Amino acid sequence: MLKGKKFKGGAPVPHYKHTSDKETVKMDVPDRVVIPMLQHIGAPCLPAVKKGDSVKVGQVVGTSEKFVSAPIHSSVSGIVKNVSPMLYPGGFFVPTVEIEADGEQSVHESVKPPQFKGKAEFLEALKGSGLVGLGGAGFPSHIKLSPPPGKNIDILIINGAECEPFITSDYREVMENSWNIISGINIIMELLEIDKVLIGIEDNKPGALKELENVAATSDKINVVSLKSLYPQGAEKMLIYALTGRKVPPGKLPLDIGVIVMNVNSISFIAEFVKTGMPLIKKRVTVDGSAVRNPSNAEVLIGTTLGEVFEFCGGFSRPVRKVLMGGPMMGISQYSMETSVVKHTNALLAFDEKDAVLAEEGACIRCGRCVAACPMNLLPLDLSRIVENECFEELTRYNVNDCIECGCCSYSCPSKRYLVQSIRLGKEKVRAMKS
Ligand code: SF4
Ligand code: SF4
Repeated sequence: MLKGKKFKGGAPVPHYKHTSDKETVKMDVPDRVVIPMLQHIGAPCLPAVKKGDSVKVGQVVGTSEKFVSAPIHSSVSGIVKNVSPMLYPGGFFVPTVEIEADGEQSVHESVKPPQFKGKAEFLEALKGSGLVGLGGAGFPSHIKLSPPPGKNIDILIINGAECEPFITSDYREVMENSWNIISGINIIMELLEIDKVLIGIEDNKPGALKELENVAATSDKINVVSLKSLYPQGAEKMLIYALTGRKVPPGKLPLDIGVIVMNVNSISFIAEFVKTGMPLIKKRVTVDGSAVRNPSNAEVLIGTTLGEVFEFCGGFSRPVRKVLMGGPMMGISQYSMETSVVKHTNALLAFDEKDAVLAEEGACIRCGRCVAACPMNLLPLDLSRIVENECFEELTRYNVNDCIECGCCSYSCPSKRYLVQSIRLGKEKVRAMKS
């Protein structure tokens, strides 16, 4: 088996993959879903339905004319109860379609296997599926798969590196649907005329490596590569370097160096969509953390509230102090159980007091461990000092926008400095200054 290169920096975070051997369990249809009109990077959608409308499974409930966007579909059949701003997992309010489910799960007439001839028609169909990057980024897939003229893509990378602690959603996709992954790869290889595919998986997942090696043996164009199990191996730039030795220059995209990266769940969805025509209406979500009674991988309809998902996993065994959407390194804290699962939700974690407590910050001892840990060659201690001193204009000179917010700096700091938190704030300030 091929072995990947080691990227610079990183952090040896614990794995805590308690749910890796747990088969996905399908959650029942909830009584209601709340579907925010923002489920991707790019322009939010406008609601395409109004209060009182009947909707069916797979029906479009949100669209946008903007280039970078993706339509949003109903995950249930029922009646639209409300269209109003509601709390989004990101902590702000966005227009949201609330649907009371009728339990019938009647499928909308538009849902049928797509008919397409060639790349352009396929991408149009894929746009209609609402697919966005399912690894957590949420970038619309039909755009990722449309490199502009002059950009020659010679490698398709499939990201099976799931490096955040606790999360096993991608791993379960490999173990349960490996043939879908290969068929999705074949579809994209043929349409985009790509002759080389590299599937990257870390060496702490021998089951997934073996499973994919078996199915990839059907093609001499597809290779499975074993990667060092080190956080953030699954981050796009680290993965590309580990698999190809190519580096994405600052401010550039993978397609600028001839690469497209897709998550295992996204590529698998493509195969399923081509077979059934069902748009993106459900997600596998790893539910774990010290306060969760039955850690599981749950297949959840998009729009299901966090409270219902935790309830499905046995509720809480002890008082909850912190809830995260995503992993402990990059996840976003939630402060309401009324927010809902969106397209890029891959984990919900709930922690008790002991695990939620944030250590007190000490003084910087200038040990340089944060610099050594930064996979983006940044100077986290300087960036955070600049933010503390509110000299935000200086941040660009220190390449603050290259920060991928992986948290390796904070994790490695012996003084427990809140480095990534202040760098995030600095990035926000720079964004605000530009707008
Ligand atoms: S790791 Fe922490 S203590 Fe060491 S230089 Fe960086 S900020 Fe300072
Ligand atoms: S500065 Fe940004 S990219 Fe570098 S380690 Fe910290 S969070 Fe990660």
